[in-house]
Amino acid sequence: MKIDVLTLFPNMFEPLKESIISRATKTQKLEINVINIRDFSKDKHKKCDDYTFGGGPGMLMMAQPIYDAMTSIDGYKDALKIYLSPKGKTFNQTESKRLSKHNHLILLCGHYEGVDQRVIDLLIDEEISIGDYVLTGGELPAMVLIDSVSRLIDGVLGGDESAEIETFKDNLLEYPQYTKPREFMGLSVPEVLISGDHAKVDKWRREQSEKLTRERRPDLIDKK
Ligand code: SAM
Repeated sequence: MKIDVLTLFPNMFEPLKESIISRATKTQKLEINVINIRDFSKDKHKKCDDYTFGGGPGMLMMAQPIYDAMTSIDGYKDALKIYLSPKGKTFNQTESKRLSKHNHLILLCGHYEGVDQRVIDLLIDEEISIGDYVLTGGELPAMVLIDSVSRLIDGVLGGDESAEIETFKDNLLEYPQYTKPREFMGLSVPEVLISGDHAKVDKWRREQSEKLTRERRPDLIDKK
């Protein structure tokens, strides 16, 4: 999968050079290009934002640099073009799976008061929010989306890591897990997990998942 990111703050994407995402780019399962919108400004001071028509506080990102940055990307017409926005559809694991099936995503990160509506009308296919709160920019939401989508691409997670059994699978939260030692600060690992009886372990895990989901996320049970 190829992901192009349009931003005024490319340095904010440094964390993607770590861990599983970095490994995915090295093994070419994933290509991430971070594009500085400012490089496309036609203003002599490389200005990319201005006051809003009609008045109001704050600055808005101008259409021209974003338009030129987006249309400079090879294959942009066929890519799924997403604007990270608190006004968008809320992101979740189902949405992440859907996006992971695409070959090419372009993510537009807003900043300040957001972007000129004409950019959205002309270029954007979908607006996606990472939750009901407002952040200063779309960079963290873009990284959340990249991280979540990338780990669902075939071959990105190694043999020891799995996206098959985890929270939100079958609309359930994951069961509690333990590793060595068997005793820690007076707390023992549940007996069933060291019984060697796989059927019993599976049953215990399923019950724990259902109990936790009922307690914490009854809305997920309703969806089932
Ligand atoms: N004026 C906008 C509004 O009231 O809807 C908020 C702009 S916000 C301060 C600046 C940028 O941060 C947005 O353009 C968007 O790209 C990003 N952003 C903020 N909160 C977000 C969220 N919950 N999900 C996705 N992107 C978000």
